[in-house]
Amino acid sequence: MTKWDKILIIMVICSSVLGMFYVKSISTNKANLYLAIEVDGKPYKTISLGGAQANQIITVETAAGRNVIEVEGNRVRIKEADCKDQLCVKMGWLSRSNQISVCLPNRVSVKLIGGETNDIDIISY
Ligand SMILES: [Zn+2]
Repeated sequence: MTKWDKILIIMVICSSVLGMFYVKSISTNKANLYLAIEVDGKPYKTISLGGAQANQIITVETAAGRNVIEVEGNRVRIKEADCKDQLCVKMGWLSRSNQISVCLPNRVSVKLIGGETNDIDIISY
């Protein structure tokens, strides 16, 4: 084995280690996606998505009305609402960072924040 063979082997090992780190950083970013629920402009609840926890239903009850928010893995929607326009329900699923669903009559907003913007940056390179 020549000196250059050894250097080549070391380079291959280094790049595979870096590759593992790269994959790990992507999955970490996905885990950093958060659901932020606001009521009347104030934070009501923040939930980390994509973790080990199972799908869940969050009911937001305020003096203005009631919204049922459904979480399914990395996506979120307002499943039911007692508002008249039902626009928030029609908005459907949110699955990417910075997507927002708002129920104006009930003053409830559901927003995805964090992680996934970083994912898009990595993929676009
Ligand atoms: Zn609504």
